[in-house]
Amino acid sequence: MTATETFADARLSDLREALGDRLVIAGDPQYDPLRAAWNLAVDQRPLAVVRPESAAEVVEIVRAVAAAGLRVAPQATGHAAAGLTGSDMSEVVLMNLSALRGVEVDRTTRTAQVGGGAVWADVIAEAAPHGLTALHGSAGDVGVAGYMLGGGLSFYGRAHGLAVGDVRAVEVVTADGVLHRADVENDADLFWALRGGSGAFGVVVSLTIALRPLATVFAGMLLWEGSRAKEVTRAWAQWTRKAPASATTALRIMHFPPLPELPPFLSGRSVVVIDGAVLEADDAASRILEPLRALQPEVDTFARIPAAGLLAVHMDPPGPVPGVTAHSVLDALPAAACDAFVLSGSISGVFFSELRHIGGAFAQRAVGAGAVGSIPGQYVMHAIGLVPSPGALTVQTAAVRAAVGLLDPWRIDALALTFIDAPDEDRALGFGSAGRRLRALKAIFDPADVFAAANPVSPPRLAAAPRA
Ligand SMILES: Cc1cc2nc3c(=O)[nH]c(=O)nc-3n(C[C@H](O)[C@H](O)[C@H](O)COP(=O)(O)OP(=O)(O)OC[C@H]3O[C@@H](n4cnc5c(N)ncnc54)[C@H](O)[C@@H]3O)c2cc1C
Repeated sequence: MTATETFADARLSDLREALGDRLVIAGDPQYDPLRAAWNLAVDQRPLAVVRPESAAEVVEIVRAVAAAGLRVAPQATGHAAAGLTGSDMSEVVLMNLSALRGVEVDRTTRTAQVGGGAVWADVIAEAAPHGLTALHGSAGDVGVAGYMLGGGLSFYGRAHGLAVGDVRAVEVVTADGVLHRADVENDADLFWALRGGSGAFGVVVSLTIALRPLATVFAGMLLWEGSRAKEVTRAWAQWTRKAPASATTALRIMHFPPLPELPPFLSGRSVVVIDGAVLEADDAASRILEPLRALQPEVDTFARIPAAGLLAVHMDPPGPVPGVTAHSVLDALPAAACDAFVLSGSISGVFFSELRHIGGAFAQRAVGAGAVGSIPGQYVMHAIGLVPSPGALTVQTAAVRAAVGLLDPWRIDALALTFIDAPDEDRALGFGSAGRRLRALKAIFDPADVFAAANPVSPPRLAAAPRA
């Protein structure tokens, strides 16, 4: 046993004394199920795992872990678990927040109080019966706190901006073990920092978020054979230049293996897909989509649907998968960029290449916004690869980075924090001009860097001298 391991064990025994059986360590039967991340390519092995069931328990755990000189990593689902692997997990207690999934909708104020471990499907299921929805992302099993406090790109975004703009209040346990309710009037600096700084500033026990009065939405997808990718991509790029802010769409080149659980129009095929939402009356939405429909897609599901149905439009995987991703932000998509994008979709190992149309309200920072309130640029370029075995991680990482790299001539100095899922991405590009103030506030709220996060914020002195 090394000296470091002995030291860690001493801290662990302090923690065991404080938390008893709630502290789950390697060898306990619950260790593997509780440490498992949504991203199955990430084999996170924290020093211990805890699964609090109340805000009071979160307070107790944060105090005990900080007193033991260890770190806490709040995690709702592990969709962004690869980002966390940049932290030394041998001194991290993973806080699995999956027990905090309660959602309460207040139809009068059009808000919801959402547990720190709740996922979008939980919120939409409660909001939809009231004719309400939220600025959710493409997948129902993504955590609300991780998504919203990282910005959050939704199919409502070109009209309504980053989802973080709909956060009204955050109940959070900070590194000193104090439960705060941070909003524009109370703990305003903390509220500012959380909206972008996310789990680097504390454990979010619940969020109060605004809901949108939308019972239905004009949404769907158009699909073509993959061989038409060049023509469709160029046409979509041209269309996006004039598309109104009410239309938020994405274009993907996807390669599906032949699997019986896939619908026949996807199984074993390469396809190009445009999907999204157009927040207009049916006639107007159809007129807006006309140039895309003129390309005669093989499948066209765009129609008025219940707003809750928007969670299914992007066809995200129904459960955990082993994946690796890379992305960049582009400010233009001329024909040469379209062709580079099509090439990216043919790189071996790339499961899909995606362009999300941003701009519009995504780029507008609202008065009173937090650390991250907007994202510059016009498109997000995003590539995803599957990692069938741990040995494939290196080559698949190289593949998705090569795919994104093909669009480098059009990239700008920005990243979407929610799309970062790797330990070595430059978070400064995600925090933008907020980075300096975030670090200063980290020094106030978490000077000992108790919180390990997928997108870390280091206090200034630790930035200069990394943790020993
Ligand atoms: C299939 C898929 C679809 C996606 N679609 C979109 C999309 O449409 N738009 C988009 O913007 N992003 C999208 N994402 C990215 C997603 O928003 C981020 O990965 C987000 O961080 C996931 O949050 P999580 O809580 O589920 O993940 P986790 O890995 O559990 O959390 C990520 C980080 O968030 C913080 N965090 C989470 N919960 C808490 C909490 N309660 N308290 C404190 N900190 C917390 C922590 O720092 C944690 O490390 C998608 C990802 C996947 C895999």
